[in-house]
Amino acid sequence: MASSSQTPHFHPNPEKSKPFQRKTHNRRNVNFHWNLGIRKLTLRRSQGLSVLSSSSLSSSNHFSNSRLHGLCANGKLEEAVKLVASMRELRVSVDEDAFVALVRLCERRRAHEEGSEVYGIAMSSMSSLGVELGNAFLAMFVRFGNLVDAWYVFGKMSERDLFSWNVLVGGYAKQGYFDEAMCLYHRMLWVGGVRPDVYTFPCVLRTCGGIPDLARGREVHVHVVRYGYELEIDVVNALITMYVKCGDVKSARLVFDRMPRRDLISWNAMISGYFENGMCYEGLELFFAMRGLSVDPDLMTMTSVISACELLGDGRLGRDIHGYVISSGFAVDISVCNSLTQMYLYAGSWREAEKVFSRMERKDIVSWTTMISGYEYNFLPRKAIDTYRMMDQDCVKPDEIAVAAVLSACATLGDLDTGVELHKLAIKARLVSYVIVANNLINMYSKCKCIDKALDVFHNIPRKNVISWTSIIAGLRLNNRCFEALIFFRQMKMTLQPNAITLTAALAACARIGALMCGKEIHAHLLRTGVGLDDFLPNALLDMYVRCGRMNIAWNLFNSQKNDVSSWNILLTGYSERGQGSVVVELFDRMVESRVRPDEITFISLLCACSKSQMVKEGLMYFSRMEEYGVTPNLKHYACVVDLLGRAGELEEAHTFIQRMPVTPDPAVWGALLNACRIHRDINLGELSAKRIFELDKESVGYYILLCNLYADCNKWREVARVRSMMKENGLNVDAGCSWVEVKGKVHAFLSDDKYHPQTKEISTVLERFYEKMSEAGVTKTSSMGETESSRDEIFCGHSERKAIAFGLINTVPGMPIWVTKNLSMCESCHETVKFISKTVRREISVRDAVHFHHFRDGECSCGD
Ligand SMILES: [Zn+2]
Ligand SMILES: [Zn+2]
Repeated sequence: MASSSQTPHFHPNPEKSKPFQRKTHNRRNVNFHWNLGIRKLTLRRSQGLSVLSSSSLSSSNHFSNSRLHGLCANGKLEEAVKLVASMRELRVSVDEDAFVALVRLCERRRAHEEGSEVYGIAMSSMSSLGVELGNAFLAMFVRFGNLVDAWYVFGKMSERDLFSWNVLVGGYAKQGYFDEAMCLYHRMLWVGGVRPDVYTFPCVLRTCGGIPDLARGREVHVHVVRYGYELEIDVVNALITMYVKCGDVKSARLVFDRMPRRDLISWNAMISGYFENGMCYEGLELFFAMRGLSVDPDLMTMTSVISACELLGDGRLGRDIHGYVISSGFAVDISVCNSLTQMYLYAGSWREAEKVFSRMERKDIVSWTTMISGYEYNFLPRKAIDTYRMMDQDCVKPDEIAVAAVLSACATLGDLDTGVELHKLAIKARLVSYVIVANNLINMYSKCKCIDKALDVFHNIPRKNVISWTSIIAGLRLNNRCFEALIFFRQMKMTLQPNAITLTAALAACARIGALMCGKEIHAHLLRTGVGLDDFLPNALLDMYVRCGRMNIAWNLFNSQKNDVSSWNILLTGYSERGQGSVVVELFDRMVESRVRPDEITFISLLCACSKSQMVKEGLMYFSRMEEYGVTPNLKHYACVVDLLGRAGELEEAHTFIQRMPVTPDPAVWGALLNACRIHRDINLGELSAKRIFELDKESVGYYILLCNLYADCNKWREVARVRSMMKENGLNVDAGCSWVEVKGKVHAFLSDDKYHPQTKEISTVLERFYEKMSEAGVTKTSSMGETESSRDEIFCGHSERKAIAFGLINTVPGMPIWVTKNLSMCESCHETVKFISKTVRREISVRDAVHFHHFRDGECSCGD
């Protein structure tokens, strides 16, 4: 880092240096070319240039050569090259001096084409290269990054001096061919018999640091001492950098301390060396020691010191350094200010960062990007988007990092408009090809519920990485397309290893549609690989088993792992959904006994459980004791209490409870009352609740369904139609009913109006037979059902679970339990039908719908309805 400012910058020429583009580190390569060069040299020697020996041409020779010298001295490159070309045509020989002048001119001008042309002419007219001309060509090709021709020139030189070796070693080192550079250095010492000098060592040491190879670095250190360069400041600085890059900070410091004289590069090398090796405090200590000796730091010192403060996250230290930056006049420098804003942002002091940012006279792309990603990091998505707008007004084009950060902010805010705008910009500026941009686009579209756009982006990524797959799997799950999420997950596993986040998303998808086999496969994968087992995955696994209805497995898992409050909550929710109130209460007591602090979710599960099991007294007791556990009741808890009272038929008490709440009730609280009114068929209070709900929320389909059901249960079909038309006016649609059933490890999906399933015919035959049996047995299937009611059920339930169950019956052996998951609530008619089926076929049938878990056995359901 410290010595890089000293060396000239070579421009690599990718066309010509192709053989070196693969970093082969192959020493044999070097040997081969080596011999080839010498052989060509001897072949050419006999040819000579016979015409040039003729004395009649000698005067014109002299004239042309001096003209060439003149043109080179005046920098007339084009004319000089033309002259050389015509001299060759006329077979007029060119002096080596004149060639050297021309080659140096080409090098200075970075004239790649002319340089190659001159090289061609020289090669065709000279049998071998002298040291001076050879060195000139070498220096030119190395500067142009053309190591192939440099190597060829080196081979064609009849003699070489130290400069030739230094240039070539430096050239290889600069382009990262460290093995080749090291090999050349050794040849120089042992074959060439050349003594290295002050220029050789920095190149060779940079090579050792670049590999990094401490053993060879130490060897070169010995050479430095042997050849007597241990007092040369440039060489010693290179030694420090070498040790630092090889991770041997102690040796670096030893060399540093022994220096009789140090320059700024020495200090920078040592200070940043500490930082690079994660020893921030030691580095800062040295920085203060340097200040104590009145050595003034430069930009490089300051930016590295600020980055160290950022790494340490020490706010006070950061502010001290900031004060020093201002007093020492570094505050005008753009890179120092960028480092300062970054330091503040990652220490969470975004207001300080804003101050530095707003005071900057000039801002570059780095300044803007730092600020935008910093806001995103500090959970300030709105500010990130605003800053992006300011940047746009400043006519600064965003890069892929900035676009990715703004997209992430759009995802958090659900700001689709800005997201789409960025997508267009990314296409125009060709930024979509960056996988980080594409991944954030997927995330943005998924969170904004535009999953088809997300899929579009995903399919267009040429090289999808783990994050791309994870984003689309999580996105599909988020958009309730869990079936597809699992198909993508399977596809991904064919080429890539999923990470902990992918597995969590996949487990959540399994849980949603009851894909137990897939969930078990992930469980096995976790046990095999140990990925994320100490992380959040155990709880995702527990949740999967609970939601797939496998309480026994969940219970075993729970007993075999370290449990936090989330694990307890998952189990509590599981039993609560099954209406096992007494189990939940018992579990809660055990949880408190094992010193796990209950949180808000714990109490929601607890209150729900009491409500479902009609344990009104217990529920109210737990509600009143919440504060004892340090949990303040929120709206969700109030809704639970309304549900608790309402379900038990105490509708007036529930209403009074709402009126006496210390906070304004939200739609969910009124929704609980509306649901209770539906159960107990109280139209007046139900209508009042609905009125309050629609004042606040006209968008949620669930409340319309509740009201419809209330009217339908009271046989008010005209009102049902009115609510339905209200829904239509507001553009609301009920999701298409869908049920999933797992048969032989494969999940099958059934839509309400799906007529394309290969077994459709068999399924309806089976169902028809049950309907016949039901009417024979006098089970009310169509008795009081009007047309409106059946169309209501068709829409709000879809009856898709019947098809799933029938499919399960057909494709499994008798006696096997059947597990179905469904996206909507079961209607009463389905509930009755499944009860009947479970009794007739003597099978256990489980249906998890949007709200409840129903376990049917012998014509009874666990929900007790
Ligand atoms: Zn139904
Ligand atoms: Zn039930």
